Amino acid sequence: MSDRRVLVEGVAVSPDHLIGGARVSSPTTFEDRSPLDWSWKLADVARGDASTATTAVDAAVAAFPAWAAAGVAERGACLHRLADLIDAHTDHIAAVETVDMGMLLESMRLRLVARGAINFRTYADLAAAHEERRWSSKGTANTVQRMPAGPAVIITPWNAPFMLSTWKVAPALAAGNTVVLKPAEWSPLSCSLLADLTVEAGFPPGVFNLVQGIGEEVGAALVSDPRVRRISFTGSPETARHIGRAAADNIVPFTAELGGKGPLVVFADADLDAAAAKAAVMYDDSGQVCLAGTRLLVEASVRDEFVARFRAAVDRHVLGDSRDAATTIAPMIHPDHVERVLGFVERAVAAGDEVVFGSHRVGDTLHVEPTLIEPAGNDSEVVQREVFGPVLTLQTFADEDEAIAMANSTAYGLSAIVYTGSTERAERVGRALRAGVVWVNTFLVRDLTAPFGGIGLSGIGREGGDYALDFHSDLKTLQIAEGTTT
Ligand code: NAD
Repeated sequence: MSDRRVLVEGVAVSPDHLIGGARVSSPTTFEDRSPLDWSWKLADVARGDASTATTAVDAAVAAFPAWAAAGVAERGACLHRLADLIDAHTDHIAAVETVDMGMLLESMRLRLVARGAINFRTYADLAAAHEERRWSSKGTANTVQRMPAGPAVIITPWNAPFMLSTWKVAPALAAGNTVVLKPAEWSPLSCSLLADLTVEAGFPPGVFNLVQGIGEEVGAALVSDPRVRRISFTGSPETARHIGRAAADNIVPFTAELGGKGPLVVFADADLDAAAAKAAVMYDDSGQVCLAGTRLLVEASVRDEFVARFRAAVDRHVLGDSRDAATTIAPMIHPDHVERVLGFVERAVAAGDEVVFGSHRVGDTLHVEPTLIEPAGNDSEVVQREVFGPVLTLQTFADEDEAIAMANSTAYGLSAIVYTGSTERAERVGRALRAGVVWVNTFLVRDLTAPFGGIGLSGIGREGGDYALDFHSDLKTLQIAEGTTT
């Protein structure tokens, strides 16, 4: 048992694992630094290894039978208490994640932490409202039962770690599974606060476990453990391939929410001011948003009008410290990621793509200017691969068919955004686009009961609503012959 809490923005945060209800350290650590000031070391975080993974899965296995047997009402009460505690600790969680990940403080407080609480309430209520399907056929009374599946491993990425982790942890716990969560090593601290709150909310020890460490080390060990019955992953396609192999070896169901290269399609009949303003939002969080519409596809007849409005909206952005209310663009997460993003820009220029604006790093900060590139062709790397930074591309199309073809022309299919003034076109184009979600004349509006996931390189499986509860359950058909008597 250890407790080497550190103060981050005045909040005491444990840099250790939470296993079986107790804080546990590791012989080695890794440094966690702040994107707001890279010289600012936040914590030496426990670097879990294969033995940490085994101990965490041991705890999840031990806690599973009682949690599964507890039933939806008892589990739901725990989830609701956790949601209330998240609300009560909003300022602490937001403050810590802002300096750890870089996300704008106001956005954290108003949007992402609040969504964490909503995630737990939503899944507690959905699990409670579930009615088993019952019907008679072929002389039998049939019931479809959701049985908790077992320990679930949840692996999350560095962008929006608190919101994304709660989005995945909530359905697993509500369905009766126990959880081992491994957040990303670049932003590990807000999930440690979540771990504290699970203890305070009265979750039995071992129901929720947190393991810190490097993906290729403790992450790989967790997903390889044959006792794990579900793997839920959000991150890059490269990592999904590794995890998918481990899931295949153990025949374990696996969902993967992966990257995106979403189009933002602007038709000439659209409200161009609204479209341009929304396009400028794609630079928020320095473009480190999987759902962002990073390929601007604009009807050729309004290209210049759109670009002028877009440029004006982008010019209103303020790059700065994420805690400052005036800042609208947060810094990027890590110097390595800045280099990766600048590499895309350099290769684009070398290949003949044209930089319309931006493309430079800002001083010695982790900011890269909002950047717009007009590619030489649709096969340019910067059009086809996810950059995950403040880099958008601009292309034009002649008509609706070409717009749809261009929008559907990458290997990804997570999200798509369309701006049009025509309801008929909204319906037609919306149906023709290949993406897990299509927003028309809006962006990021989420109904948590709707399916959420990607097509192609953007992922496998669906989260959201009953889709996630079904994933975390073993569905069983019980058939009892009619006329069976005691
Ligand atoms: P990543 O794939 O590098 O890492 C994600 C997680 O996987 C981290 O916790 C990491 O430690 C772990 N990991 C790495 N190798 C592992 C291995 N061999 N075994 C087990 N775990 C391993 O992704 P990232 O750079 O942290 O996140 C950015 C990516 O996530 C982008 O592609 C982005 O689009 C995507 N993303 C998708 C969604 C979505 O909902 N579809 C949401 C947010 C981010």
